[in-house]
Amino acid sequence: MNSRIYLASPHMSGEEMKYIKEAFDTNWIAPLGENVNNFEKDICDYTGAKYATALSSGTAALHLGLKALGVKEGDIVFCQSLTFSASANPILYEKAIPVFIDSNYETWNMCPKALEKAFEDAKKENKLPKAVVTVNLYGQSADYDSIRKICSKYNVPILEDAAESLGAKYKGQYTGTLGDIGVYSFNGNKIITTSGGGMIISNKKEYTDKALFLATQARDNAPYYLHSEVGYNYRMSNVVAGIGRGQMTVLNKRIEQKKYIYDKYRESFKDIDEIEIMPEFEKPNHWLSVITLKDESKVEAIIEALSKENIEARRVWNPMHRQPIFKRYKYFTESKDTDVSGDLFDRGVCLPSDTKMTDEDLQRVIDIIKGLM
Ligand SMILES: *Cc1c(COP(=O)(O)O)cnc(C)c1O
Repeated sequence: MNSRIYLASPHMSGEEMKYIKEAFDTNWIAPLGENVNNFEKDICDYTGAKYATALSSGTAALHLGLKALGVKEGDIVFCQSLTFSASANPILYEKAIPVFIDSNYETWNMCPKALEKAFEDAKKENKLPKAVVTVNLYGQSADYDSIRKICSKYNVPILEDAAESLGAKYKGQYTGTLGDIGVYSFNGNKIITTSGGGMIISNKKEYTDKALFLATQARDNAPYYLHSEVGYNYRMSNVVAGIGRGQMTVLNKRIEQKKYIYDKYRESFKDIDEIEIMPEFEKPNHWLSVITLKDESKVEAIIEALSKENIEARRVWNPMHRQPIFKRYKYFTESKDTDVSGDLFDRGVCLPSDTKMTDEDLQRVIDIIKGLM
């Protein structure tokens, strides 16, 4: 059997152990220390964000992002429907009410027209959302000029879920810095990893300070333990932050490799009428290469055929408005009979996008898919 080809798996630079060893040599094995500080600085230097707080996961960063924006029980939060459940779960942690927004075909992300409809409805109901959670799916930016225009009209802040899109740009600006607060994930499958981890970034220090305060058990400034708010244990460990520092040295290289994979798929499938590749909007990091099929029934066939060859492929995220846990909440689309996120789920396949794949691996994947057409 050939060795397994993954969708996306950790890919070390070789520099990681140096920083981990530093943590051991100096005995900074705690959730604070030089690696944490420098990893935050690396992310700020790279993205141009002014402030950052490193956390234990992207989910924790989204949770504290909502809290920093003042989301409380009963508040409404708009959220892109086509995403991983971690974008939406923190809304329920706070007993707030999610309202889901459809995507458009151009970006696969939040549809500005559907967003406008949701705002019009909220205005009619006299209850505007406390925040809008945008997502940059599969490493591709949403249409921020249009989204920001609508959000500023209603004076509602944006929490940007950039968990998948570190290094991707919108009009020359790094994703994660396009909302009021941005969130990155360093889970094992993301473009760079710390094994597990996340970060919250902002140009407003009060947001990242609030996240740091809440992430370290919400200890008030007093000479003894004093708490006037519920705290969390969400800080990133200094050991794994060392992995992050090593990974930052190869982020640009990984983006190039991911683009190479995407271009190869696009080129190989361009003459096959039944296959369409996810369109490029602005400057993605191409975290995952995704195709849609004209014929829905081919989706499972492709995943199965690849699986038989020990190759991992997966369905597109199943949108939140179709999830049993979220089904009861409102969902806005551009028009009555469109459901772009549902359609992309029905017809989409995420292809192996692992940067450790060889050209031969990539060709095998392509040949198997072509063989089914
Ligand atoms: C991975 C991911 C998250 C969650 O990040 P974790 O670090 O795994 O908690 C959130 N949103 C999206 C879109 C993701 O892909």
